[in-house]
Amino acid sequence: MKLETTLIHAGSEVDPATGAIAPPIHLSTTFEHGPAGEIPHGFSYIRVNNPTQARLEAALAAVEGGEAALVFASGLAAGAAYLQSLPPDSHVILHKDTYFGFREIASMFFGKWSCEYTIVDMKDPLSVRHALLPNTRVIWMETPSNPLLEVIDIAAMAQIAHNAGAQLIVDGTFATPVLQRPLALGADVVLHAATKYLGGHSDVQMGALVFGKHDKAVQEITHNRTILGAVASPFNSWLVLRGLRTLACRMDRHSANGLAVAQWLARQSQVERVHYPGLAQHPGHEIAQRQMSSFGGMLSFQVKGGQEQAIDVASRVKLFTNATSLGSVESLLELRASSEGPGSAVPDNLLRVSVGLEAIEDLIADLQQALG
Ligand SMILES: *Cc1c(COP(=O)(O)O)cnc(C)c1O
Repeated sequence: MKLETTLIHAGSEVDPATGAIAPPIHLSTTFEHGPAGEIPHGFSYIRVNNPTQARLEAALAAVEGGEAALVFASGLAAGAAYLQSLPPDSHVILHKDTYFGFREIASMFFGKWSCEYTIVDMKDPLSVRHALLPNTRVIWMETPSNPLLEVIDIAAMAQIAHNAGAQLIVDGTFATPVLQRPLALGADVVLHAATKYLGGHSDVQMGALVFGKHDKAVQEITHNRTILGAVASPFNSWLVLRGLRTLACRMDRHSANGLAVAQWLARQSQVERVHYPGLAQHPGHEIAQRQMSSFGGMLSFQVKGGQEQAIDVASRVKLFTNATSLGSVESLLELRASSEGPGSAVPDNLLRVSVGLEAIEDLIADLQQALG
């Protein structure tokens, strides 16, 4: 079955109790069990699992081509649950342009968890090989990366990880399963901040892990979620399930608009540099062409002059809203360094753009008047 069809039908079974086509939202926190604690319906308490979440997890596993999926309260909670399942003394290799929250987890918590990490530039596979240690358990990558849109070769990283007896996890938030299939390229786990494109309407926070194999690690991470409690709610599960239904259509339009905005920005004299993997001049374009079906709606660009000029542009946009987050129907823009705070390594004149689904003429007209 084609992905577009799976996205519509996965987890869409008609409700057996009522025949409802739209899935019910089960808000119950607790479920009847037998006198000796038997669980005849498969559900006992909401922190363990619930029917709406189970529907979404089955759908995500099908969509990503994995054997299991788990959803969490946020993208960071999903990543934290995975990292907390590693045995003590594990070593993790991260890309230097990894979502800043995960770099923060590494710097703040790995020591407490008796884990260690190395940050490398994964655009150069050799630097990953050099960073391998006997206790390297995980290569943690993100492609395209947030916020520099760097592209990392998933198949190459999978090979390096597996030769070293490590796992490869790919944060695929920017690409979604519509544009990129990490498990098919050899990754062991895919992470999504479902808060972004999977939800797609700036109204739900959630994270997801999809696993190629339903192995012991899945049981351990499930237990971690149950005990540490970073569960997704039924209503959020329902919203993300609904988001999946239109994901393929939205990503088509996001990609068309993203490419058009990137190409237009690249021609403007006020723009120093555009970061978008769909541009032929992007250093990762060739790899992106190989591992992505299209290039999505995320891009960033640097304004000539410096931070002051970038803030000027951000202050003049009307249709784009100055806000963090991404992946929704409406276009957003932000001075990225301001969101990441004092330790940010992002160029201070960089504006990150989430290109929405509006008419491309209106988006470009707004950017044109904002560039001045
Ligand atoms: C937003 C984001 C996350 C974190 O998701 P939250 O739901 O905000 O915790 C992780 N990775 C990437 C690439 C993101 O953009």
